[in-house]
Amino acid sequence: MMDLHHWIDGAFVPASKGGWIPVTEPATGKTFARCAAGTSSDIECAVQSARSAFPAWSQTTTAERVALLERFAALIDDHCDELAMLESQDGGKPIARAQSVEIPRVAENLRFFASALRHEHNDAFTSAPDVLHWTHRRPRGVAGCISPWNLPLYLLSWKVAPALAAGCTVVAKPSEVTPATATRFAELSGEAGFPSGVLNIVHGLGSEAGSALVQHPDVPTISFTGGTATGRDIAVSCAKQFKRTSLELGGKNPFVVFADADLDRAASEAARAAFSNTGQICLCGSRILVESSVLPQFQEKLLAATAAMRVGDPADTTTHIGSMVSEPHYLKVKHAIESAPGTVLCGGGRPSDLPDRCREGWFLEPTILTDLPESCALEREETFGPVASLRAFSDESDALRLANATPYGLAASVWTKDLDRAHRLAQRVEAGVIWINAWMVRDLRTPFGGAKQSGLGREGGIESVHFFQEPAGVTLRLGDPS
Ligand code: NAD
Repeated sequence: MMDLHHWIDGAFVPASKGGWIPVTEPATGKTFARCAAGTSSDIECAVQSARSAFPAWSQTTTAERVALLERFAALIDDHCDELAMLESQDGGKPIARAQSVEIPRVAENLRFFASALRHEHNDAFTSAPDVLHWTHRRPRGVAGCISPWNLPLYLLSWKVAPALAAGCTVVAKPSEVTPATATRFAELSGEAGFPSGVLNIVHGLGSEAGSALVQHPDVPTISFTGGTATGRDIAVSCAKQFKRTSLELGGKNPFVVFADADLDRAASEAARAAFSNTGQICLCGSRILVESSVLPQFQEKLLAATAAMRVGDPADTTTHIGSMVSEPHYLKVKHAIESAPGTVLCGGGRPSDLPDRCREGWFLEPTILTDLPESCALEREETFGPVASLRAFSDESDALRLANATPYGLAASVWTKDLDRAHRLAQRVEAGVIWINAWMVRDLRTPFGGAKQSGLGREGGIESVHFFQEPAGVTLRLGDPS
């Protein structure tokens, strides 16, 4: 049984009120750790530590910050297997995915923002021979970073790295559902040499620790990734104090396949888009829209690609789909499937051939439904599980109408060989991230974020660093040379 304490002022500390939250391995249903149940007093300690560390940290040179971020990245690489094992145990995700995608991305996030910092430059120009203008960017102080359970360390580090690069100190609140790797991450930040108080991690429930962080008057910047309903509450709370807020929220993303597309590739990517990480990625393509003339062929290929994905023990390196993250989430997704007024093409239940170790785990087969009314919950609301719907469209305008027919606007994937159509859709699909003949191909330099109810603001590239800084326009008039 592991005890996961807060990391405040460069040391592990227990919850001030002594409370614990049990941490369960969802693939086995067994509790393997407990994390500190943080409250507003723990947030207070962490914010004060971050405030004390801020003056010195904000004055460090670019070279010093770059060196620390790179040293931290190297330590993540050195501990990749250990972190991947913890991430898989905590969230039920396949170990191979944690090892080859998610933990390497943590190191990449740290290196990317070290490099962004190294290449940062600001404008300077003259408006008259004796007048010089430039932009001075100063770090905004203590940054609050709140992250979800689906890609725990990948997303936490995607916020922490630019905040530290910007010269801010950080109080981070990881998800209480998957707190394990954040704890190790904090410890490794100490080994990397970050001064005490520069990075603090407070565990706890969103309604207690998360909410206290959002409301704290000494935290002027909040970077949040999570559900749309939580994001809405946080936006309201932050608006009252004029906090700068970045909100990366839910999605209900269309995966649109035209008749002229490479149907084999589109079908295998559609299965990957729907079921990667058990469908628990905000970018998953959970609404598969197919031009009616090729629907029968496409459906056959999609079902074959889905059947080839092995659901099993996350600790087994050959597993493609692990368990759901928790019992409540499993029950929610199962209910969404059972109450959907459509036809189940595949899946819908619990896999029958799980190993003994996983008998009590929260597993669901990859599920595809069809014949759903356009207005039903499964077509409009985020389910965030291994469930996708399949629907025919008649022509391009029908495809566009269906693609945009939800309150969300996070990502879209469009499959066609017609370049004109690809450009038209890229301009008209209401989404912050659009892939043409691809899904989940990311470059950290590109803007990332959602339209409509999928969020506010963009992460990615130097914009992520600038989010944590306050720009000031400075103007200098030269004295009379005579
Ligand atoms: P969630 O909103 O329940 O929780 C996210 C984080 O916010 C957790 O750390 C939680 O403890 C905290 N929290 C909860 N209530 C809070 C409050 N009132 N004040 C402050 N903090 C609070 O989301 P989740 O269930 O952990 O994650 C799944 C959701 O995240 C899905 O909707 C998914 O689409 C979304 N997500 C979005 C992106 C993106 O980049 N757009 C990426 C990953 C996940």
